[in-house]
Amino acid sequence: MNKLQEISLSLGIELSGEQIEKFEIYLDELTRWNRQFNLTAIKLPEDIEVKHFADSLAVACGLDSINLENRTRVIDIGTGAGFPGLPLKIALPQISLTLLESTAKKSAFLHHIVDRLGLEDVTVLCDRAETLALSPDYRENFDIVVSRAVARLNTLAELCLPFCRTEGLFIAHKKGDISDEIALAAGALEKLGGSLASVIPVRLAGLDDNRYIVVIRKISPTPAGYPRRPGIPGKNPLK
Ligand code: SAM
Repeated sequence: MNKLQEISLSLGIELSGEQIEKFEIYLDELTRWNRQFNLTAIKLPEDIEVKHFADSLAVACGLDSINLENRTRVIDIGTGAGFPGLPLKIALPQISLTLLESTAKKSAFLHHIVDRLGLEDVTVLCDRAETLALSPDYRENFDIVVSRAVARLNTLAELCLPFCRTEGLFIAHKKGDISDEIALAAGALEKLGGSLASVIPVRLAGLDDNRYIVVIRKISPTPAGYPRRPGIPGKNPLK
């Protein structure tokens, strides 16, 4: 886990021996489950260390403006095998984490790994964002909403912003050239109660591709009617 330690230090996060041990268990279990179920396209242990674990921690760059007190409520939308939410929870154990994933086999892995790592204050939910966001138990109920590699920003905003409380943050982890994507999402952000706060470029040692942490502040409640029915935010993104 030398690369993970090096990259996390460059992000201002110092991982203890116990935390590194948790990442090692996560790596072993993910590799083992991946042989049977296709949980993630990245399969080699050295790639998982950098492209999943370290890459997920890049989201921490967007957390500067929020006070990460005990039990800050964080939800990860479309978390897959736990990214970026679980690496963040291992590195920042004070957060209260909810992982949302619509695929049953991935959710089964999440239940298993949360239990195996002995993580406290983590909830795994198997549902679609469009459905869960209508429940008063979850709507406008999180301080921070994170998401990586789920959809373009105009679609993603509709899946994520309804979960965020006013004055909370929606943090999207993005790769590649994102200027067009951000411009196209302007209408969606306005309709959903979000406002672009910052776009933070992040370079990680050993990775050539550009990545950006897009920070959106929730400035007003998301109007009733959003998100629209499952599938509609992707098929017909807000303009
Ligand atoms: N965030 C993870 C990562 O960075 O490795 C997984 C990315 S994967 C490409 C996208 C995941 O989002 C899939 O596991 C998919 O099942 C989930 N997903 C897509 N749309 C969703 C929705 N509307 N609600 C909940 N999960 C969704």
